Amino acid sequence: MRTICVVGTGYVGLVTGACLSEMGHRVICIDNDKSKIDLLKKGRIPIYEPGLEELVRKNNREKRLSFSTSIKEGINKSEIIFIAVGTPPRPDGSADLSFVENVAREIAYNMRSYKLIVDKSTVPVETGTWVAITVKRNLKKNIPFDVASNPEFLREGSAVHDTFNPDRIIIGVESARAESILREIYKPLKAPVIVTDMKSAEIIKHASNSFLAMKISFINAVGNICERTGADVTKVAEGMGTDKRIGKTFLNAGIGFGGFCFPKDLEAFMWISKKLGYEFNLLNEVKAINEQQKKLMVKKIEDSLWILKNKTVGVLGLSFKPNTDDMRFAPSIDIIEALQAHGAKVQAYDPVAMEKAKPLLKIKYCANAYAAAKGADCLVILTEWDEFRKLDLVKVKKLLKTPILVDGRNIYDPRQAEKLGFTYKSIGRN
Ligand code: NAD
Repeated sequence: MRTICVVGTGYVGLVTGACLSEMGHRVICIDNDKSKIDLLKKGRIPIYEPGLEELVRKNNREKRLSFSTSIKEGINKSEIIFIAVGTPPRPDGSADLSFVENVAREIAYNMRSYKLIVDKSTVPVETGTWVAITVKRNLKKNIPFDVASNPEFLREGSAVHDTFNPDRIIIGVESARAESILREIYKPLKAPVIVTDMKSAEIIKHASNSFLAMKISFINAVGNICERTGADVTKVAEGMGTDKRIGKTFLNAGIGFGGFCFPKDLEAFMWISKKLGYEFNLLNEVKAINEQQKKLMVKKIEDSLWILKNKTVGVLGLSFKPNTDDMRFAPSIDIIEALQAHGAKVQAYDPVAMEKAKPLLKIKYCANAYAAAKGADCLVILTEWDEFRKLDLVKVKKLLKTPILVDGRNIYDPRQAEKLGFTYKSIGRN
């Protein structure tokens, strides 16, 4: 059992804290957002994440997991400090590391004995080196400490499962002591551990997310070719993905990637590469294809309706992917705003993301999928929630003003939809 403080109780910090406590460690989660901590103290969680609330309640009850707004308390009670604060994009594409720097400074002000400071936030290469410099500069006495990089690979929507079943754990360290502590922390998971230097670990995270984003843009570009020839991108992806060297995942053509990770990590990787004197132009194209994909979706809707002005577009799905309420950089935002700019009215439904969408999108929010279809000139699928796959399409058709279905996630069979009488458009298929 180790004593651990997790600073930043967001998607990553809360899941990490809860899972580490479930693994038997004593964990204190810190956030400077008092409303989040107040909610957590009441046994409720500020995000939607399957299985997380139960885990938080259980470990809180069993006194392995606690919450506080005081970073001082967290540091005093723990030997290991995980940094899990946000690293949002700045307008120039670089990562805003001011939250990480703040935490590094706070650690230096408050530490009285050895600490292992572990960066879990996604950061550009050399951040760990800067964290170490910042701590050293602000320490009052010469207290020993280590800095390590331990990038996070969980996926929102299956974050708890991913944390307990990682493909691998990356540990970027500069000392044997740090390596041994981190190995011990993660021992209960029985997952492969890859130990590297700190900089390599930092690059592994940026390179992995950029690679996955590249796979998505690649299949979207292939889909655009399929569409022009009558080929079917889902079949092409199946044929490609069965090759073990390529793999099946991240080959679903659609409206492009979004979320808090891929867009910003891609940008940040390009930015740091450039800063280091290398132009990673391949990634520019990955980004350009992604932006274009959203515009193509708007065009598909426009091509179906001819005139968008005063038409009503029903939208199913707002979150950037299913099983999460995360709206950060969701493609739905750009697509809906473009429709509104053309004068269309939007009525939408999402199973869990509507509360988070409300401050971002001024649209009509509906109680369910059928209400979003009712009276609409067309129905658009933006997020592939499972419940949309199970809709009664006969009922949907009756509710729509005109039976037009624009499926940005390829969740329906084109022949089936046409047989039911829909004008059906999807991505990379005819
Ligand atoms: P988040 O915005 O949900 O959480 C960050 C939290 O840090 C917020 O609650 C904020 O209030 C808190 N915070 C900021 N400064 C603080 C301070 N000085 N003291 C205490 N708390 C502070 O962000 P997230 O999605 O959890 O992402 C965190 C990091 O993990 C980012 O670098 C992100 O790129 C990375 N990451 C995210 C995911 C994901 O799926 N969300 C996956 C892997 C890695």
